[in-house]
Amino acid sequence: MTSLRSRVRRFLQQPGSASLARYQELLAPVAAREAALRDLGDAELAAAARAATEDGEICAVGREAARRALGERPFDVQLLGTLAMLSGQVAEMATGEGKTLSGALAAAGYVRRGHRVQVMAVNDYLARRDAEWMGPVYDRLGVTASWLGQASTPDERRRAYAADVCYAPVSEIGFDVLRDRLAADVDDLVTAAPDVLLIDEADSVLVDEALIPLVLAGSAGDAESGRQMAEIAGRLLPRLHYEVDDERRNVYLTEAGARIAEQALDGIDLYAAGQLGTLTRLNVALHAQVLLTRDVDYIVRQGRVQLVSPSRGRVARLQRWPDGLHAAVEAKEGLLATDSGEILDSITTQALVRRYPVVCGMTGTAVAVGEQLREFYGLEIAVIPPNRPCIRADQPDRLYRTAADKEEAVVGEVAAAHGTGRPVLLGTLDVAESERLAGRLAEAGLPCVVLNAKNDAEEAAIVAEAGAPGAITVSTQMAGRGTDIRLGGTGGDPEQVARLGGLLVVGVGRHASSRLDNQLRGRSGRQGDPGGSVFFVSMADELITSCAPDAPPVDATDDGEVTSPRAAATVTHAQRVAEGTQLQIHRDTWRYNVLIEDQRRAVLDYRDEVLRTGTALRALERSCPERVAELREAVPDGVLAGAARQITLGHLDRAWSEYLARAGDLREGIHLRSLGHGPNPFGAALNPVEEFNRELTGMFGDFTGEVTAATEETFRTAPITADGADLAAAGLKRPSATWTYVVQDNPFGTDFSRAAQAISRLLGRR
Ligand code: ADP
Ligand code: MG
Repeated sequence: MTSLRSRVRRFLQQPGSASLARYQELLAPVAAREAALRDLGDAELAAAARAATEDGEICAVGREAARRALGERPFDVQLLGTLAMLSGQVAEMATGEGKTLSGALAAAGYVRRGHRVQVMAVNDYLARRDAEWMGPVYDRLGVTASWLGQASTPDERRRAYAADVCYAPVSEIGFDVLRDRLAADVDDLVTAAPDVLLIDEADSVLVDEALIPLVLAGSAGDAESGRQMAEIAGRLLPRLHYEVDDERRNVYLTEAGARIAEQALDGIDLYAAGQLGTLTRLNVALHAQVLLTRDVDYIVRQGRVQLVSPSRGRVARLQRWPDGLHAAVEAKEGLLATDSGEILDSITTQALVRRYPVVCGMTGTAVAVGEQLREFYGLEIAVIPPNRPCIRADQPDRLYRTAADKEEAVVGEVAAAHGTGRPVLLGTLDVAESERLAGRLAEAGLPCVVLNAKNDAEEAAIVAEAGAPGAITVSTQMAGRGTDIRLGGTGGDPEQVARLGGLLVVGVGRHASSRLDNQLRGRSGRQGDPGGSVFFVSMADELITSCAPDAPPVDATDDGEVTSPRAAATVTHAQRVAEGTQLQIHRDTWRYNVLIEDQRRAVLDYRDEVLRTGTALRALERSCPERVAELREAVPDGVLAGAARQITLGHLDRAWSEYLARAGDLREGIHLRSLGHGPNPFGAALNPVEEFNRELTGMFGDFTGEVTAATEETFRTAPITADGADLAAAGLKRPSATWTYVVQDNPFGTDFSRAAQAISRLLGRR
């Protein structure tokens, strides 16, 4: 299905990448302005900055401002990156090339053109670091910059968003958007209207994490039904009443199991279209019963269920399982369900990003996802050359037959490098592997630092030392990303380490995409430094066994090393399969989400109009003129408009939350039917996505009708006085508490989301 253009582009080895020619043309005029700008006083430079609206002029004053503020004169290539971002592209610039500064100049340029910019950072630590680091540059350009993080109060957030440039982690921006969705008053809004979005580590945000939902939940709950379902699930027997798939990722009722449950539920037909909710709740209870194990997947502490994060191996604070599973586990453990966490709204990063009219970004590894950036976001890539050529020596993969052979060889490689004093950075796929390997290294007398379960700031500080002489650092993917690894560390001699060959990166297994391999390699050889990289792969690695299961057996030497070119081809093939699967997952998930995102936008636009204008009362004046006339005697106009607004918003928000839950049930139900469990009333003619969209379109029609009818009903019957409407009496209480979380793992995934889990397990970040 790939277009001719993309095939040609792939042939040219630059999928989705743009030409730099028009940016290069601007460099000479920028250079020509340099001497004159140097002669300006600070105030004159600030005045020149305020007057700069052309891209070239922005680069010229930006270069001078950075030189004065940081003592770093932006290289030509950094300005090329700035220009690409100012043209709405994703700049691919290798690690250590100085993207922070390039991005800041682009942000300032957008501000000078009259925009407001949000810079998406990977985490709190980097949002703060970059805002504070670039602050002096922005100052000289007359641009206000701010940052916000998890701990920021609503007032701090409002102020931060109001600045010209605001640095914030992806999840916090998403949560603020969701919380604003519930605002009952204009004064409660926190975010600013989406304008320009500049994304750091753009491939992580736009591809790797694009489909992870950010969730806003509120107090609600149906503990009784949860207990009943837990009780039924507890009575079912393996194989007879339910089956578990090989990967222990999913559990299904058998016919016999369904009959038992149906009897317990007063003889209902579980697979009838009207019972989707019941079927889903039962499946959730069964999942909690069978697939989640106490002290492995969760612990019970102080009467509460707390998740153990599988990739980090620690208790994950503030994380919950989605869609009632949390309550189901609590019911299984006989705990008083805390709050089943009715989902009020949720949004994926992908949908969040698509709210912004202008999107640009930067990352070290974009080209490999060029097709996805184009397909899902309409983004082009500009490949910026390094300031000094990269001289890192990337060795071919070393292949082994078994995992044990591979680890043996890794330890040998580390010992050899360490013996000379050369620093080594090991990249592992998950926490378990990193700990096992650290144990092996310690046994071999090679002390190392392991990066996991640290907070972002600590992690960054440790990674910064990974270039020190003799350092051995074992890290999981993403650990300390965004941190510069300088040869010599923060105190040592860079020349000494350079003479030893620079930082050696050892990959303990190839990732599910070559892009992630390259992220790891890129930690070495920054800014023309010497460096090296090598990956060790075993034919028993999950990537190979799951993505190339039919690979023929290979011969190995006595120490287990495999040299046949066929084996190397198998590894490449497996990685390509994994990449293709991931793209397909993204595509499928997007097809499920696209309609609901359109609907959400329509609901939000309407909500915003209700919040900011008198539209609610005007609608009720048309539909309930007598009631309005009757109320006007005792209720002042402003209060009446407020009451109409609160009632409308109350019903809109309640109905949207219910709608999302029904849409989830629908999707799950269509999935179960498509698996052939229970009758499929649609036959094989319709594909699941089409079926989902067809039913969802009908449901949305019901949704709008129901909101209007319920609003009119409440307006007619609720007590409305000069004090406003009594919403509690009308059953329209707003949630007493809300909280936010990131769904790390959707356990009742459909086939592609289960495939996604398999892939993301390979990616080491469930
Ligand atoms: P990236 O995000 O591209 O990996 P950073 O923005 O973290 O890189 O910058 C890496 C290092 O390069 C930082 O220590 C920064 O101070 C330095 N740096 C950036 N631009 C310049 C420059 N023009 N001259 C000298 N050093 C620079
Ligand atoms: Mg960076």
